[in-house]
Amino acid sequence: MTTISTTDPGPIAGATGLRTEPDRNCPLCPRLAGFREAARAREPGWFNSPVPSFGDANAALLIVGLAPGLQGANRTGRPFTGDYAGDLLYGTLLEYGFAEGTYQARPDDGLTLVDCRISNAVRCVPPQNKPLPAEINTCRQFLLATLATMPRLRAIVALGRVAHESTVKALGLRATAAPFSHGALHQAGAVRLYDSYHCSRYNTNTRVLTPQMFRSVFAQVRADLG
Ligand code: SF4
Repeated sequence: MTTISTTDPGPIAGATGLRTEPDRNCPLCPRLAGFREAARAREPGWFNSPVPSFGDANAALLIVGLAPGLQGANRTGRPFTGDYAGDLLYGTLLEYGFAEGTYQARPDDGLTLVDCRISNAVRCVPPQNKPLPAEINTCRQFLLATLATMPRLRAIVALGRVAHESTVKALGLRATAAPFSHGALHQAGAVRLYDSYHCSRYNTNTRVLTPQMFRSVFAQVRADLG
C-alpha cells in the first residue's frame, strides 16, 4: 500500500493508519497549491482547499470524479456541489435511491447519501479542469486510502477517463485489461468498476453523455447491489 505523506496527519481512518484526507494546505502538487493560494486571495469566502469525500465510509458504492470544479466543489467544499455536474449527479442519485433529501447546490442543503460515497481522483481544483499526470499519480494515495478504508465496498462508478485510469491503478488492475468505455464493467475481486462519461456540462451539451445514458449506469449499479 502506498505510504501517505502530508505535512499534517489529516483524518486517519480506523485502525488502518491510512490517511484518507489531505491537509488543507497539502503541498504535494506545487502547481495546484499555487492555484489554490491564488484562489484564496481572489475569493476568500470560497472553500479553496482539497475537497474531502462525502458520504459514509461504510457505503457499498463509491463514485470517483475527476477533480473539484472551480466554482463547484472548490467553492462549496462538497464534491459536485454548486455546478451543473452536481445537478445531474445528485438528481440521478436521488432517482436511484442513493441519496435522500433535496439537492439545493449547497453543502448545508441537508441532502444525505444512502450506501454511497463520492470522492475525486484529484482533490484540488486544477486549472482548466486538467490535472497533470504527475498530479493524478501523487493524489492517488488518498484514493487508495479511501478504497482501503471502505470495508463494504462493492461498486465504483468512475466518471470519465482520468477517474477510470486512476481507479484502475488503485485497484491493481492492468490498464490494458480494463480499458475505459462508457457503460463498461470491470471486476476487481469483489469490487465491480462501472465506467461512465463524466457528467460535465460540456459532455451533456455535446450529447457525448445524455441524462438517459447516465441513468442507465446507475440503474445497472442499483440492479447489481439490490
Ligand atoms: S491534488 Fe492531492 S496530492 Fe496534490 S496538492 Fe492537492 S491534495 Fe495534495
